[in-house]
Amino acid sequence: MKLDVDALRYLSKDDFRVLTAVEMGMRNHDIVPSELIDRIASLKHGGTYKVLKNLLKHKLLHHDSSKYDGFRLTYLGYDFLAIKTLVNRGVFAAVGRQIGVGKESDIFEVATEDGTVLAMKLHRLGRVSFRAVKSKRDYLRHRSSYNWLYLSRLAALKEFAFMKALDEHGFPVPHAVDCNRHCVIMSLIQGYPLVQVKQLQNPDTVFETILELIVRLAEHGLIHCDFNEFNIMIDEDEKVTMIDFPQMVSVSHRNAKMYFDRDVECIFKFFRKRFNINSDENEVEHDDSEVQSDEDCRPQFSDIKKASGFLDKELEASGFTRKDQDDIEKFVDGDAEEDPGSDSEETEDEQAIVDQTNDDIIKNFESLSLVREGEDDLPEGNLENRQYIMDQDTSKEHSGKGHKPHKNRLEHENNAGDEAQVKRGHDSEEDEQTDDDPELVKRLSKQRQRAIQAARGRRKVITSRNAYKDKGGRSSHNSKIQKQLSSW
Ligand code: ADP
Ligand code: MG
Repeated sequence: MKLDVDALRYLSKDDFRVLTAVEMGMRNHDIVPSELIDRIASLKHGGTYKVLKNLLKHKLLHHDSSKYDGFRLTYLGYDFLAIKTLVNRGVFAAVGRQIGVGKESDIFEVATEDGTVLAMKLHRLGRVSFRAVKSKRDYLRHRSSYNWLYLSRLAALKEFAFMKALDEHGFPVPHAVDCNRHCVIMSLIQGYPLVQVKQLQNPDTVFETILELIVRLAEHGLIHCDFNEFNIMIDEDEKVTMIDFPQMVSVSHRNAKMYFDRDVECIFKFFRKRFNINSDENEVEHDDSEVQSDEDCRPQFSDIKKASGFLDKELEASGFTRKDQDDIEKFVDGDAEEDPGSDSEETEDEQAIVDQTNDDIIKNFESLSLVREGEDDLPEGNLENRQYIMDQDTSKEHSGKGHKPHKNRLEHENNAGDEAQVKRGHDSEEDEQTDDDPELVKRLSKQRQRAIQAARGRRKVITSRNAYKDKGGRSSHNSKIQKQLSSW
């Protein structure tokens, strides 16, 4: 999916307000009813419907009228919310080219104000496996959208927490910079995934280093679970960096031995095939000239001296809880049970969101504000002052500063990218043309008119027949709102 950050330049505060309203509504709704969005955003004079049209045009929202008139965030919409928040925090100032496509992520270069280039990983849990699981067992029938947001956010939180903890314990991982929603910002690794490397000067050393890593991880209570040539980066000096942690498990996991052996096997298999290591009929020579099968020299899970507490204590302290771990493991294992919630339930939370005072919302929006002060009213063409969001073409300027173009003696397999592309699957629904649907445009205009009339005549907005049920009762509690805000 192309991440056209250009659109960010054209989005106003109201656009982000409505986008955030949809995000909040998705806490309880797969498709958020238009009226609920309007109530959460509480823009004056029916402004919400005009904004919805604009967001739809930019493909930040998806429209659905199959059950009732409503919207949900697209990946792009969720990306923009995360990007805007991180830009406002000063974590980075510009988005550059895409540098990686994982099974369930997109990775981009981003640049800070001072030109340092970092890596941004946008998690897309659900892009591949979600669909596969869904087709098999009607997984998350009611709450699929909520769950891709939830699971992608969880994956990012987990990755960030693990990366930070591993970094602090001296493991060769990217440096974790920040995290918001489904987005992780980390240092950029100057190197290539091992899968692209055809020749190594010291393949034995690299092989041993990698095996030691697996063992040391287990000694710290962790198993990577996807430790393969796609998730090991290697630089010009043949220094190894491991990446991609959302699927890691504790050594106390019921399948720990199987995951450990699988990681080891992946490395053995790859080095045997690519670098001819341990390929001699599964036999290796030892110092005492005894011949042993490679089975015997493999690290064994039962030999690991476990240092307990690493996962539970440190990672929980970082905000990634046992429950989060369980939730994500369920998904990774593919045996997640259907979420008991459904669109017609949980209206109390909904009411709490709607009841949230405008002060809270405004505070939230001010902290999200991307457009610098005084720029709000600039005509769309006047963008010179907004260069901190750059598109793919302008990224070259930045990459010159902090990021040397990759040029090294390693040979690469050009088809590695294609492989990833195939693995990635496609998300055609994000490309749907919804913006020029005349029916929808008409309906949105009508709703807008109705809302304007309601605002003028102080009449209650007529809710559609199929809209969500409202239990009423002003059950607005700040704690609930806080929970809502912090959980997204
Ligand atoms: P996934 O979980 O989808 O497999 P990964 O974290 O493995 O995603 O990243 C996919 C690809 O993106 C990697 O193979 C690598 O080429 C690139 N990549 C990821 N993180 C970084 C980084 N910090 N620096 C440079 N490239 C990276
Ligand atoms: Mg990966």
